[in-house]
Amino acid sequence: MTFYEELTRLALNHQPISEPDCHRILKDPELNLLLLLQAAYQVRYAKWENKVHVHVINNAQNGHCPEDCKYCAQAKSSESDIQDYPLKSDEEILEEARQAYESGAFRYCMVFAGRGPRPKRVEKLASLIQEIKAKYPIEVCVSAGLLDEQGAKQLKEAGLDRLNHNLNTSESYYNRICSTHDYQDRMNTLKAGKSVGLSLCSGVIVGMGETDDDLIQVAQELRQLEVPSIPVNFYMPIQGTPLGSASGLSPQYCLRVLCLFRFLNPSSELRVSAGREFHLRSLEVMSLYPANSLFLDGYLNAKGSQAQTTLQMIKDAGFSICSDFSVDDVLGKTTLSPELKSLKDLKKASDSSFSLVPKA
Ligand code: SF4
Repeated sequence: MTFYEELTRLALNHQPISEPDCHRILKDPELNLLLLLQAAYQVRYAKWENKVHVHVINNAQNGHCPEDCKYCAQAKSSESDIQDYPLKSDEEILEEARQAYESGAFRYCMVFAGRGPRPKRVEKLASLIQEIKAKYPIEVCVSAGLLDEQGAKQLKEAGLDRLNHNLNTSESYYNRICSTHDYQDRMNTLKAGKSVGLSLCSGVIVGMGETDDDLIQVAQELRQLEVPSIPVNFYMPIQGTPLGSASGLSPQYCLRVLCLFRFLNPSSELRVSAGREFHLRSLEVMSLYPANSLFLDGYLNAKGSQAQTTLQMIKDAGFSICSDFSVDDVLGKTTLSPELKSLKDLKKASDSSFSLVPKA
């Protein structure tokens, strides 16, 4: 059995991967990336076939955060030039939920900046969740910072499907990226959500200066917590954040990270998240082989692809979306690859730059 086949076998049997093998997945130059991706794809296919879960993220409130997460443009310590705004109105949030549903999103994620919601904010969130769930058949996820069991219970009773709270990095590296709360605070929130029956979403930010060991640790921690939804973000250096320009990620390394998370978390919804376009570049579509989920069109403080480009990529690679609508329904009549009607058109369109037709 080859190394690749052994990885697939272990993952499909929900058996752990040894530390040395985790390191090989991330760094061994002898490994063939396509074979590694194929091995991860087989694990992805066993649970998710060729389906892609499309998420739409709504930054329901921007800025105003008293915490100091060093990667975050909304942190008090950040000098990033972002547009601060308080909580969006209910009408705005509901309208964005409608748009998300109609653009083929499986899940609508609402993110609220801040350390965590006070009881009044929890009540408001609960009533918003109720309204969205009554109007649209879409899954709802909330990311609202640190939450105790009481708050989590209220949101669960309002119909919340999923609670997001990212671990972001390993326990040993956590104090390098934040000083206003610690890893244990984050774990407690996840445990509170789990104890009231909320489905959890928790992931990582890759490229903040951590080691491979840190990444392996957090992938294993998420495995132990049996987190069903794992966003893998690739750090996007945002000007003005204390972390600045850390990163140094290559597209191939990003794909290896996704494979690692897939092998260690074979049944989880693995989401290639922020930084997909920025770091994977021309290899972006390859991320769909280990991952079965992505964001449609952008992130919290960074633009992503246009919705159409993302959907076209899914379609071109032969995947389909989990939605009441098909990719074709959502793409509508517009196509990103207009037909070339004639050689004459081609010549005309390219007169001023490049031409396939030799000039006389
Ligand atoms: S990641 Fe969340 S808690 Fe940390 S600074 Fe940003 S908004 Fe605040």
